[in-house]
Amino acid sequence: MKYSLKIFSIFGIPVELHISFLLLMLVIYLVALFNLIPGVDLVVAVLITLLFITVVLHELTHSYVAKRYGVEIERIVLLPIGGVSAMKELPRDPRQELRIALAGPLTNLVIAAVLYPLFLLLGNTLSPSLSFLLYNFILLNLLLGAFNLLPAFPMDGGRVLRAYLAERMNFIRATEMAASIGKQLAIVMAIIGIFFNPFLIFIAIFVYLGADQESKMVLINTLLEGINVRDIMTGEVKTVKPSDTVDMVMKTMFQHKHMGYPVYQNGDLLGIITFHDLSRIPEEERGQPVENYMTRELLVTRPEEDVATILEKMNSHNVGRLPVMEEEKLVGIISKTDIMKALEMRKKLADK
Ligand SMILES: [Zn+2]
Repeated sequence: MKYSLKIFSIFGIPVELHISFLLLMLVIYLVALFNLIPGVDLVVAVLITLLFITVVLHELTHSYVAKRYGVEIERIVLLPIGGVSAMKELPRDPRQELRIALAGPLTNLVIAAVLYPLFLLLGNTLSPSLSFLLYNFILLNLLLGAFNLLPAFPMDGGRVLRAYLAERMNFIRATEMAASIGKQLAIVMAIIGIFFNPFLIFIAIFVYLGADQESKMVLINTLLEGINVRDIMTGEVKTVKPSDTVDMVMKTMFQHKHMGYPVYQNGDLLGIITFHDLSRIPEEERGQPVENYMTRELLVTRPEEDVATILEKMNSHNVGRLPVMEEEKLVGIISKTDIMKALEMRKKLADK
């Protein structure tokens, strides 16, 4: 995840701290040490550290249940409002996802349920600081458990809701419906926040964006499942020669309406030239050969690679098309537009 630092590993799972979590902790300790806000002292700072440990426990129970179902956990990321366990793949069976999602919030509720009788029994014998710590620790666990059960992505409740829906309809529909319920909930939260507590607006924005992002990611991965580069690439590739002038290649682009061409000579792929490259060339240079302007560092793909991976590769390198190579020979080209078309078609089929 962007902006996170790895702090340690447990069961072979890296635990990462999101920078916002780190900043929040830092601010709290600074406030406590220098007495910047009356009431926020070291006891509060310790409480927040305990909370951090609880969040790790919460995530670890998710991971533990997931591992029992054979789902690998890539990493655990801790955010100020909770943690995220990034699974390498989603569990196939909705009942498994439901249990994995429930395990975390249940941990918090169990901690609260176990400690509360203890607090009732010992409350009077403890020092004021310890009593304050215990009481608030119980309260925070209760809040964490309840908050994570909100039926909205990226909270666990969102996953529980999707798993519940997925037993009754297909996975894509279930994701879309769970995401839209989550977004509506976020809007309601924001409205309540305007009147009662501005902090709710902040959470609502987070919930809204999370629901949006999660549903898009799941949708794309699910829709593209099983599609290989070979299935949707353009097989007969129109190529240009390195000695072709900028003017010539631009003409070809306008005629054939492709936005990029491999630069090819004597069976060798030398580079790729796109409309974007050409559009930046000043008019007086348009008699020059395209080899002066092409991209030489080539990112390529193979026919058997799966399209979801390719799309990620294109997005992270910010390229719109990849040449497809097989045994050192150019056998096709695949563009983001090809992938988007495949997505649309799969979506139409799924909606039927
Ligand atoms: Zn959780």
